[in-house]
Amino acid sequence: MQNKRLAQWIEEHSELLSRTEQEADQALHAALYEGVIDMALNGETRMVNSLLESAAAHAVAVGRPLTNLLGVPQRLRERLWQRIGEEIDPEPAFIMLSAVDVIFVHIVRVTIDAYLDATRLATAAKATEISRLYAESERKVMEYTAEVARANRELARLEQVKTDFISIAAHELKTPLTLIQGYANILYDLLSEDRTLTLADGIRRGAERMNMIIEDMLDLSAIDTNRLSLFLEPINLSKTIQLIIHQMEPILAQRQHSIQLIDLDKLPSIEADAYRLHQTFSQLINNAIKYTPDGGQITIIGQKIEAHRGKPVSVRVIIKDTGVGIAPEDREKIFEKFYRVGSSDLHSTGHSKFMGAGPGLGLSIVKGLVEAHQGQIIAESPGFDMQNCPGSSFIVTLPVQAMPRAGLQVTRMPVVLESEESETLS
Ligand code: ADP
Repeated sequence: MQNKRLAQWIEEHSELLSRTEQEADQALHAALYEGVIDMALNGETRMVNSLLESAAAHAVAVGRPLTNLLGVPQRLRERLWQRIGEEIDPEPAFIMLSAVDVIFVHIVRVTIDAYLDATRLATAAKATEISRLYAESERKVMEYTAEVARANRELARLEQVKTDFISIAAHELKTPLTLIQGYANILYDLLSEDRTLTLADGIRRGAERMNMIIEDMLDLSAIDTNRLSLFLEPINLSKTIQLIIHQMEPILAQRQHSIQLIDLDKLPSIEADAYRLHQTFSQLINNAIKYTPDGGQITIIGQKIEAHRGKPVSVRVIIKDTGVGIAPEDREKIFEKFYRVGSSDLHSTGHSKFMGAGPGLGLSIVKGLVEAHQGQIIAESPGFDMQNCPGSSFIVTLPVQAMPRAGLQVTRMPVVLESEESETLS
């Protein structure tokens, strides 16, 4: 490949470096030109080899095909052939062109080898990178799993702390409260003067409200620890609900709500705990009263649901109001204990006042009681809006034949036939 005349001739023809190469290939073209001179002058291949290795590595890295890369030496070779053929006498031209070909065979071979090496290296690096990423994501998944497990344990612990707190606080408060209630009653009976009577009555009513909250806490604690006792007997839901409405008449009148009952009298009698169902529907009707502005409409609808898809014959009671409604994100959370929607300044205090929130225990007790009967409760509402009042519906489904949750203490009342009942009464 050595040919000093060729080296000199190429060096003198630097116009061969004219900018016919694409911008990106200009540097490679120029370096190759120098490399070819070097090879022709002293047979030195080191410079050309390292130049071609880095060009091949770069081509692989940017995804340039080998044939495209080979275009650069190919064009230089063609230019040399053409110009040497035009300018040099045939005999010396033949010798020079033979040397050119040897040089370019070397260049093509080195380029192909370097390109293949670079491809192999890139594939190996990719595989290493992929396995590194895989190992890293696996480690992250494990970390997250451990974190979630830790968070779940912490949640369970906090839930237990809440349950313990409710139970301990309720039991501890109950005894002194009973004393206060007792003494307040005695005081009320002993006093005769109007002014002092009013004061004693204030203490009595405050203690009574406190007692209701403590009773709620005790119920919740019984539900949470599965210590609820159910006394099952046949229940006429229509009568239960009418009794509740009768008891709430003063509040309904005060808040000017009207109430409509639809098809409750068509419901079959169900086997359930009378006291607990009274408590359940009282809470739901009281909430409908509370969260509806004065002059609202409360509708209570009864539906019988036939057995389907493994579910037993059931009754459904829908308590529908024209109140402030519930935002979609709160529809499930309102059944959690101590959960109250929105900031506390939206609420007033009081058992039946508009927006008169309590401690946020009512619905979680209701859910616990309904589920103890193997029933379900859900809330439906288009959303929360204090101005336009889209309303809410609470839908309670209870099986006709009781099948209380496992683990509960259940007592079944003996069934009294209607004829026996009337005999006893007469
Ligand atoms: P509270 O003691 O606050 O009334 P509840 O458990 O009975 O507790 O209710 C939880 C929250 O659910 C209430 O604070 C209220 O925001 C919302 N809520 C309950 N019933 C209704 C209803 N009928 N309409 C709109 N919101 C309701």
